[in-house]
This record gives sequence, structure tokens and C-alpha cells, in this order.
Amino acid sequence: MDGKALAQRVREQVAREVAELDHPVGLATVLVGEDPASAVYVRNKQSACREAGIEPFHHELSADTTQHELLGLVAELNADERVTGILVQLPLPEVIDEDAVIRAIDPVKDVDGFHPANAGFLVQGRPTLLPATPAGIMELLREYKVSLSGARALVIGRSNIVGKPIALLLLGESATVTIAHSRTRDLEALAREADVLVAAVGRAGMVTQEMLKPGATVIDVGINRVEGRVVGDVAEDAREVAGLLTPVPGGVGPMTIAMLLKNTLQAARYQARTLAFPLG
Ligand code: NDP
Repeated sequence: MDGKALAQRVREQVAREVAELDHPVGLATVLVGEDPASAVYVRNKQSACREAGIEPFHHELSADTTQHELLGLVAELNADERVTGILVQLPLPEVIDEDAVIRAIDPVKDVDGFHPANAGFLVQGRPTLLPATPAGIMELLREYKVSLSGARALVIGRSNIVGKPIALLLLGESATVTIAHSRTRDLEALAREADVLVAAVGRAGMVTQEMLKPGATVIDVGINRVEGRVVGDVAEDAREVAGLLTPVPGGVGPMTIAMLLKNTLQAARYQARTLAFPLG
């Protein structure tokens, strides 16, 4: 499954729709501290914004920023009409309570989809702003016409960012979903029954060829650095057994940024009230 090509099409579509809007679309990114990987992610998000006609507003705060200061900035961004989406890059320094910061973001500007209000709407089957990685996976499954109704889906991983929301989205499409995690017994047997398998663990090659049902659709979310190379959670030879498979890199990763742009456009529509947000 070519995530790079699909992501490019999504980004072009977002750019067309942003250009047609009669109000501005702006994404504020907030980076606290000097984590090099986070800095790269934020830079990529900003340049993707510019390319799509979304105005980027970047705020870089030092590693010794207090929670109070960060919450103050979030409040300013909530009130700023030019800012239609807010993204606080995670992880935050340990002294800051991440959940408190996420809760402080206006749900209607929460383009990461991590606010409990947006997570709650997803649980209720009324998706609003969705976490970008699971949203990108669903877009790939739609593009490749993977049949989900009644299919057995196994999600390995239960994080709030990937595992739980993708499980809920698959359930929303009437798949029969199992969520596995580090305490799961006999993962191999569960995997062999799966028509759709999503690996979101962060352990290189943990899903082996032998674990797969022949013809299964395999979504590899993992990003692992092994001997200078980036690899997923699925072993390379799995492609010989899988029906469809997302490569790493070039599968889920590019879709994540594309869906962030799509969310920023959707958030702008909520604020312009051309789209109804369920909290009114
Ligand atoms: P977390 O570390 O938050 O979650 C990992 C999950 O894997 C946990 O639920 C954990 O179980 C489970 N797990 C760990 N070991 C095993 C095991 N042996 N068997 C079964 N399950 C296990 O990670 P994230 O969800 O944030 O990310 C997962 C991966 O996806 C990472 O490699 C990350 O880099 C990548 N990622 C990629 C993105 C992209 O855009 N492509 C975006 C986001 C993440 P337990 O809960 O019991 O500890």
C-alpha cells in the first residue's frame, strides 16, 4: 500500500479546499525543549502547512518552561482567531503534566485529536477530530477497498495515540476487533485469525511471516531504528504472505502528516461554523 502517493493526493486536495475557503486556516505548533526528533517532526509539519496554504505559527519554548507558562500560551492560542489548529508536540518535559496541557486546548482546535472530548466522541461512534495516524490508516484501507464489515481485525498496541483509536475506528466499520498488548497470551494464534492486522508496538520485526493468515491486510505502524535503518514492527518477509501491506518507510508515516493537514482544515470549518462541532 503506497502511503506516500495517497498522502500526496490528500495534501493536494487539502490545498485546493484551503484555497477555496473565504477564511484563513492557521496551525500553531508548540515545541518545548530541544528533543532533536521532535524538532524534525515540527519542522516537517510546518513546511507541509505552508505547502497547503495553511499559515504556520511556531512557538519554541525552552526546556525549563513551567506548566503555568505553557498553559498561558495555550490560552492565548485558544483565543487567537488566526490560529484554527493547535498542536503541542509530545513528549513534554517530565515536570509538565501532558494530560493537563491536552485538556487545556480548545477541543475545536485540537488537531491531534487527543482531547478527552474528541476521544469521547470517537468512543461514542461520532468521530470529530481524529488522531492523525489512525485516521491515515483508515484512509489507506478505504483507498485499497479493504473489506472491513465482519472482518476479524487484530490491533497490537493499546496507546491513546494509535492502538485504542484505530481499534474504535475499525469497530465503527463493523470489524470484529481484538486489542492485544504486552500481557496478551498466545498472540500468534490471534494473529493467524486476523484478516486485518495493525502492528503498533515499536519492536522491530515482532510480527513474523508465520503469524499471518495468508492474504491478510497488514498495517505496520512501528518506527524502529536498527543499524541506521528505519524499519517497522513487521518482518520483511511478511510481504510474501500478506495480501496488502504498508511499507516502512512510505506507508503509514506520510499519511500521518497528510491527515494533520486535513484535521486543520476541518477545525477551521468548525470555527467558521460551516461544519457543526458537537459541543456547539
Ligand atoms: P506505545 O509505546 O505507547 O505503545 C506500545 C504498545 O505496544 C503498548 O500498548 C504495549 O503494551 C504494546 N506492546 C509492547 N510489547 C508488546 C508485546 N511484546 N506484545 C504485544 N504488545 C506489546 O507506542 P505508540 O502507540 O505511541 O507507538 C507504537 C509504534 O508506532 C512506535 O514504534 C511508534 O514510533 C510508532 N508510531 C508511528 C507513527 C507514524 O506516523 N508512523 C505515529 C505514532 C507512532 P502495554 O500497553 O501492555 O505496555
